Amino acid sequence: MRFLAVTILFLVSACTSTWQFSTFEQIRLEHIAAQLCPNNTTDQPLCGIPLALDVSEQPNAYASYFGITLTRALLRMMNDNEVAFALAHEIGHKVLHFPPPEPISREMGELQADGFAQFVTFCMGFDPFAGITNLEKLINHIPPEGVKAKTFLSYRIGVMKNFDSSEVDCNE
Ligand SMILES: [Zn+2]
Repeated sequence: MRFLAVTILFLVSACTSTWQFSTFEQIRLEHIAAQLCPNNTTDQPLCGIPLALDVSEQPNAYASYFGITLTRALLRMMNDNEVAFALAHEIGHKVLHFPPPEPISREMGELQADGFAQFVTFCMGFDPFAGITNLEKLINHIPPEGVKAKTFLSYRIGVMKNFDSSEVDCNE
């Protein structure tokens, strides 16, 4: 039933390009999206990318050919900087991996999207290390048997800690 509800929301959103978020969620996301994409001239707040809501209780965000989907659980759990990281990470997937330029591993794709997100969030005035606390919160939601997933999230956190803003040229 939940799958059906999500599917319907997804299809309605895809057809009408309207938000399926609560008013509070919409205002909050529009505010974050406006900072991530200040020169946006489209009717979609996030640089022309449609956003959709997944009512799942699992904190998650994902990119598809359609756009970017966030779960309500993720929005509840993350602060604005962490939501900005999640959005920028998924924009990274759309920019870098749709369509895939060449076969890369899922792991490499995640690291590329993290790097993209740290660059974009830093340059747009967000905390570039919010991806670390974002992933730490996700780790706490992985069941004990998810050792491999936890290990990879910990690895991504370690890589993001090496971000050096003094090496970033936001005009590039
Ligand atoms: Zn990803």
